[in-house]
Amino acid sequence: MRQETAVQRTEVIVVGGGMVGTTLTALLGEAGVSVVRIDAREAPIETETAGRGSPALRVSALTPVSQRLLSHLGVWPRMAGRRVTPYHRMLVWDGEGSGRIRFSADEAGVECLGHIVENDVTLAALEACVADMPNVHSCFGHRVTALETSGERQYVTLDDDRCLSAPLVVAADGAGSPLREMAGIDNKVHETGHHALVTSVRTERPHGGMARQVFLAGGPLAFLPLTVDDVPSYCSIVWSTTPDEAAHLQSLSPSALGDALARDSDACLGQVQVIDRVVSFPLAQRHARQYVKPGFALVGDAAHSLHPLAGQGVNLGLMDAAVLAEELLDARRRGAALSDPRILSRYERRRRPDNTAMLALMDGFRLLFGTRQPTLRLARNLGLSSVDRFTSLKRLLMHQATGERGRLPRTCR
Ligand SMILES: Cc1cc2nc3c(=O)[nH]c(=O)nc-3n(C[C@H](O)[C@H](O)[C@H](O)COP(=O)(O)OP(=O)(O)OC[C@H]3O[C@@H](n4cnc5c(N)ncnc54)[C@H](O)[C@@H]3O)c2cc1C
Repeated sequence: MRQETAVQRTEVIVVGGGMVGTTLTALLGEAGVSVVRIDAREAPIETETAGRGSPALRVSALTPVSQRLLSHLGVWPRMAGRRVTPYHRMLVWDGEGSGRIRFSADEAGVECLGHIVENDVTLAALEACVADMPNVHSCFGHRVTALETSGERQYVTLDDDRCLSAPLVVAADGAGSPLREMAGIDNKVHETGHHALVTSVRTERPHGGMARQVFLAGGPLAFLPLTVDDVPSYCSIVWSTTPDEAAHLQSLSPSALGDALARDSDACLGQVQVIDRVVSFPLAQRHARQYVKPGFALVGDAAHSLHPLAGQGVNLGLMDAAVLAEELLDARRRGAALSDPRILSRYERRRRPDNTAMLALMDGFRLLFGTRQPTLRLARNLGLSSVDRFTSLKRLLMHQATGERGRLPRTCR
């Protein structure tokens, strides 16, 4: 028999304090819900150092819709001035052929297509937001080791044997989600055959507020623009390629890697100087077979993780957080229980189609550009160039890429 006096009780337990879990915590916290957020990291991100000094290795392209969500929380103003770099144009070309497509904010009728932001900057601003909320309690340096259901409540045990309970547990614990396994939710995993190589560079020519991506035989190479100390000549590199080529590139000296980056990007920004270490991640696409169970929900990479070629991963996760918060808060206002399976199913019904479509699109891109078949290569070159001339189709693609899809939650409108 569980000793209830030893159990800390709250309304919602969020496991995982990455960008998605912390956004969900902030959305629930601002509405007065009591939340305990648990994260395995030793301590929160240092607010003072995020976005200062050398650029961090991990960055994300945040869509205007994600920006609106972060603005709603008052988080975006905390990020501004920390190398949040807008991009107004995007160029995608086929390194194996002649096809190319250009997107511009002017054509899309928007202020910008998105911003490149260091993940630490977003997370530090979110941390500062939840730190001000008296009903949010954060627990760092601890892992969840067990998840149990008893009646209408969920119980999580931490690695120091502490036990917490709530009607609802949300797992935002990343692609390897231990909570998803503890909940017994099956995960469809699809190896992409790619590793992503990530580093930061300084380029000879300024980026001009343009994100660039070239599709090479091994996979896509992206130059994501960053402006550091008002110098618009930095980029974050995400180079997805075969594991063998990734290992080879990682073994090169910084100057040889810079030469390879300049050569394979057709020297679009002139010479390239590598200014940081190079890290590599295996890339798999994963999709949980279900997002919810009674009293339990998955959000962000715990529910789905996808190839970074279109820079959508965290944007999809932020939409999960916004939709789940909207459904929970609407239910709470009606006096319904937060663990009500109907509420959680509504969240899954609103999010699964968008996430599924994006996962399928990423697979399609990867296969089309990974092909060595001459007819398919010709078709993709002709296709890219035709889309480039077809303004209304381009506008539709741009709206998709900027996150303007389907019924957006109120916090993102
Ligand atoms: C190379 C690369 C480039 C990318 N570029 C982009 C991009 O441009 N745009 C974009 O939208 N997305 C991009 N992504 C995807 C994006 O980084 C992820 O979608 C995003 O970080 C997922 O956030 P999350 O909060 O769901 O999970 P995570 O960031 O993985 O956070 C999970 C958290 O859970 C904690 N945790 C794990 N297990 C436990 C446990 N048992 N107990 C307690 N805590 C636990 C961890 O400490 C961690 O803080 C990219 C990904 C890669 C690999």
